[in-house]
Formats: sequence, structure tokens, C-alpha cells
Amino acid sequence: MQGLLPCIVQNAKSGKVLMQGYMDKDAMAATLNTGHVTFFSRSKQRLWTKGETSGHTLDLVELTADCDNDSILALVNPNGPTCHLGTESCWADSKSADFTFVAELEAILAARKKADPESSYTASLYAKGIKRIAQKVGEEGVETALAAAVSDLDELKNESADLLYHLIVLLHASDLSLSDVIDVLKSRHNK
Ligand code: AMP
Ligand code: ZN
Ligand code: ZN
Ligand code: ZN
Repeated sequence: MQGLLPCIVQNAKSGKVLMQGYMDKDAMAATLNTGHVTFFSRSKQRLWTKGETSGHTLDLVELTADCDNDSILALVNPNGPTCHLGTESCWADSKSADFTFVAELEAILAARKKADPESSYTASLYAKGIKRIAQKVGEEGVETALAAAVSDLDELKNESADLLYHLIVLLHASDLSLSDVIDVLKSRHNK
């Protein structure tokens, strides 16, 4: 591999595309050695570790080449906003499918396990215990089914949101996550 290759940076957890830069061999080596994504800056004409002045570094999870070795993908955990304009992604206004939002929401709900039960509804749910959360999932499941049965589409959307929210909380109360569920779906798909 020689010259400059484009490197696409993607959030390892949410899948959101964050930025694009260029890498040469030295930039790739620096990225792998330090664990912080480092580009060859065409404007600075030198190696540039993202976050070197802002502190908004990108912790490397995985660096891979594409099918024909002319493009690089960096999966990262970002420390702060990745765009120098202060947004999470350099494509701040992109309306790309927001399944990434479910991952963001899950991270927030997981963090609420450690929060004061007085401070949020989610934290208070965890405090009530798995049986109460399981009961909520049952109720929301029934409400979702009833809404569908009477073709109330607004209600179906609302109850589905309630169900998904409570299901994520139930999984985390049980020390599981949506990834575990996705793994099961994938394993079935491969059969
Ligand atoms: P930083 O690497 O975050 O300390 O930022 C240093 C400089 O790099 C900024 O002033 C910008 O010129 C440039 N820069 C930072 N982030 C980006 C980005 N996501 N895309 C392009 N240029 C950037
Ligand atoms: Zn390619
Ligand atoms: Zn940007
Ligand atoms: Zn409901």
C-alpha cells in the first residue's frame, strides 16, 4: 500500500459516520501504535493526530482495509465531538437512518443503572427491580398488540416506543443488552 488513502471514521457503538481523513503508511502505523486515530493532513503536510489540540481524540477499536485495499475504515470510540465545528459528526445534518439513535438511547439507559432513583424515571424503574420492569414489558406488549388489532397506527407507534424502551431497560436490569438479542437474530439468520 502506498500514497494517501481515504480513511472513513465510524463510531464503533452507534455506527454513525463521523469524519473522513487521509492516511499514509506512517499514519496507519501511528494509529495502531498509539491507539489514537492519526491522519496525514494534506493542509498541514504532516502527521496529525485527531484531537491533538482540541483533546477530542478518537480511540481506535479497529482499523480495516476495504475489499480492494484502497480505502480504510476506522471504528472508534470518540472523546467528544469529532467535527471541529463542535458537532458529533462532520455530516451533522445528514438524515441517515436513525437506528444509531437506538444505540445512543441504549447507552443512556444503561448509564441510568448507576443514577439516583429520585433523579429519573429510568433509574426509578431499575430500583423497583426486574419483576416490576418485566410486568411493564408485559403491559406494553399487550397495549401494542391491542393498538395493532384495532388499526390505530398512532397508538401502535406510541405503544411500540413504550415497549422498546421498557424492553431495553429490562435487558439491562438483567445484565444483558440489545447486542445479545441481535446476536441471537443473526445466528438464526445464518442457519
Ligand atoms: P484537533 O485535531 O481536534 O485538535 O483539531 C485541530 C485542527 O484540525 C482544527 O483546527 C481543524 O483545522 C482540523 N480538524 C479537526 N477536526 C477536523 C475534522 N473532523 N475534519 C477536518 N478537519 C478537522
Ligand atoms: Zn476499494
Ligand atoms: Zn468537520
Ligand atoms: Zn404503553
